[in-house]
Amino acid sequence: PEARLVIETRGLTKRYGAQAAVDDVDLHVRAGQRYGFLGPNGSGKTTLVRMLLGLVFPTRGEIRVLGHEVPRQVHEILPRIGAMVEGPAAYGHLSGRSNLDLLDASGPGRRSGRRRRVDDALERVGLAGVDRRAVRTYSLGMRQRLGLAGALLTQPDLLILDEPTNGLDPHGIREIRELLVELNEAGTTVFLSSHLLTEIEALCTDVGVVDRGRLVLEEPLDAVRRETGRVVVDTPDV
Ligand code: ATP
Repeated sequence: PEARLVIETRGLTKRYGAQAAVDDVDLHVRAGQRYGFLGPNGSGKTTLVRMLLGLVFPTRGEIRVLGHEVPRQVHEILPRIGAMVEGPAAYGHLSGRSNLDLLDASGPGRRSGRRRRVDDALERVGLAGVDRRAVRTYSLGMRQRLGLAGALLTQPDLLILDEPTNGLDPHGIREIRELLVELNEAGTTVFLSSHLLTEIEALCTDVGVVDRGRLVLEEPLDAVRRETGRVVVDTPDV
């Protein structure tokens, strides 16, 4: 039997005036997947991610995340989700640790164990040694990792990440990828957007391809590899 759906959309559409940023999308993300949402800039990835989190209201269509209807029941899912949308937002004058403390304090109903949660998140993203430095002294890569640490605070069942390796150097990219695989293997479903096929090939088990707001393909990556392979094999020598 197939694993349960953790994200499901039906006919999901967002219009801005005459333009559909997201157009009639049926998305299926199952428990345990690392799902790559692939599309060029402007294809509607961010708009879709924001709708999944209840931050943008759909023009039409349905969304279920972890079995709950979004946006109506978003309060049910937020404690079980880690999200990073459009790069990290952090207070530059505060340390990395203080930013996480604040985020944790503003989270839903968690009073005890903050120190350990924050330590664990800092450790996982490799910021434990620089946690007392002001975030304004962080590189973009460090900020990105801090954003991911914030997403890990809830020990989420599901990570929703918009372009999580954008702006990182190759070393930082590798670190984030390894971390996401590790978290996934420990049971977290990962949904991430990217405009890079190489990124999704290196990281994901499944891919959804979006083109001008429409989902044009949704498949396991090994199927895509087989098909791509076939195309290459079938191409006559020139
Ligand atoms: P990027 O990687 O550049 O963020 P994207 O794939 O995430 O691209 P979106 O940001 O979702 O794409 O944008 C999809 C389309 O919808 C774009 O043409 C964009 O201009 C338009 N759009 C997004 N948000 C709004 C808005 N608030 N008002 C009007 N148009 C919008």
